[in-house]
Amino acid sequence: MVLLLIVVPSALLTVFQLSSINQQEDAFETIYERQLKSVILSLNMYADDVVGQWASKVAYLWQDTKDGNAELVDFIEGNSQIQGAVLYAFSEKAGLSNPVVLGNVTSDIAAQVLDSCSASQNSISRLFTYLQSNYQKVISFSLAKEPESSVFVFAILNSQGDRWVGTLIVNTEKFLIDILAPRIQSTAQQDMAMAVKSSRNGSVLYANNKSTEFNDNDIHEKLWQLPNYSIYLKPLGNTTEALIKKRSRNNLSLLVAVDVLLLLGAILIYRNVRKQLHLAKIKADFVSNVSHEIRTPLALISMYAESLQLNRVRGEDKLQRCYLIIYREAKRLSGIVNNILNFSKMESGKRKFTFDAFDLNEIIRNVVARYQYEMQTNQVEFVLHIDKKIPQVWGDKEAIDEALVNLIDNAIKYSKDQKYVEIGTGAEGDKIWVEVKDHGIGIQRNEQNLIFDQFYRVTEGNLAQDTKGSGLGLNIVKNITNAHRGSITVQSEPGKGSVFRLCLPRAKEY
Ligand code: ADP
Repeated sequence: MVLLLIVVPSALLTVFQLSSINQQEDAFETIYERQLKSVILSLNMYADDVVGQWASKVAYLWQDTKDGNAELVDFIEGNSQIQGAVLYAFSEKAGLSNPVVLGNVTSDIAAQVLDSCSASQNSISRLFTYLQSNYQKVISFSLAKEPESSVFVFAILNSQGDRWVGTLIVNTEKFLIDILAPRIQSTAQQDMAMAVKSSRNGSVLYANNKSTEFNDNDIHEKLWQLPNYSIYLKPLGNTTEALIKKRSRNNLSLLVAVDVLLLLGAILIYRNVRKQLHLAKIKADFVSNVSHEIRTPLALISMYAESLQLNRVRGEDKLQRCYLIIYREAKRLSGIVNNILNFSKMESGKRKFTFDAFDLNEIIRNVVARYQYEMQTNQVEFVLHIDKKIPQVWGDKEAIDEALVNLIDNAIKYSKDQKYVEIGTGAEGDKIWVEVKDHGIGIQRNEQNLIFDQFYRVTEGNLAQDTKGSGLGLNIVKNITNAHRGSITVQSEPGKGSVFRLCLPRAKEY
């Protein structure tokens, strides 16, 4: 449920993001392209501005007569891009007349200019309309026979209200190199490659970055004033496409990273919740198991004590049996209570161990001796394989005793009819080991690691189910061995039995 709550929205978000990334990419590309085009627009406006200023200057200086135009001639000569000017009187009816030629204009060029202007008389008429609204518009055309030159045409109204048409014959290459190139250079700087190419033959007139090649897929625009030429533009380093791809890739990896994190978070939450639920169940089981474990010996003790008090037990034998049962059950009860107390001490870190050198074999003999009643009544059989030569162990005697009792209790509890427990000792390197082997029900492989966890109990199998316990015994054994820097391992086969091996440090080496 938790997984669904987190994973489904994040999956939906991912799908949504993936689809919107494409849309964003398109939008981004359009915006980016528009921005680059606006760079070209600014250059076009600049060229327009220069030509417009020239036209205004010529219109301002024009004096109607060839001789009275010294200042105009100075202006033309001062701008090396301008080859010369031809000015015509203009009327709607008569068209262009009285040409006045200034600067270096051959009669052949003048004739071509006149031809072109006459062919565009309507456009020229419109120039006067614009001028009346205070807009000095300039139109341009190229000369068929003079490909290196361009002609800028504009309207002039002199102080008497006479109409004139001004034409400036400009060397195109010089205009591009002298006027436009510095501007391109300062606009493009290191970030962009820009070039001016002729649309007629594709030749490059100017390029700020010689190594960049341009084709029609690159962003380009015609020059307004020189329509036979176009400005091309390319961002340097990364192309627009590469930039967008990189951005998408970054977006995508970020998205994947967020998804992975979300998933990890979801898995963690899920595991945590499951663990908590499991723990809650285990704790509930623990309470019921322990209550049961305490109730049984209590019931036996009170029953036999009552019989004794009421003098219902006759004969020495029966009396002895009664005492033994009371003693055994009281011992069992104190064992359970001790386990719980020790566990809670260990949990709160309050359990202190007192280390000393001692003989492990002796501890084993003492422990086994305490099962005298069980042995006498044939409930259990012990076989000891003691290695008498093992060195002394360094540890807490009482704690090791307790660990052994827990292991032996389990060996008895989880054996069916044949309660046959073997206990062996030995030394291996700097470790001394003790093994408790039974021939009981055994433990499934997948449970073998879990049985050392707090409260963990195997619930499969009749005997395991019927045998009551707190699930604390092996956890206590593990904690004790850890405190001794030792180890506890289990080898078991279901149906055949188990061997628990406890390794402890030898006294000298510790
Ligand atoms: P419990 O109080 O249930 O015996 P323990 O911590 O001592 O708790 O043991 C945990 C579980 O390990 C037991 O419930 C039992 O299923 C399994 N177990 C422990 N010792 C043995 C053994 N000798 N043979 C088979 N199963 C065992």
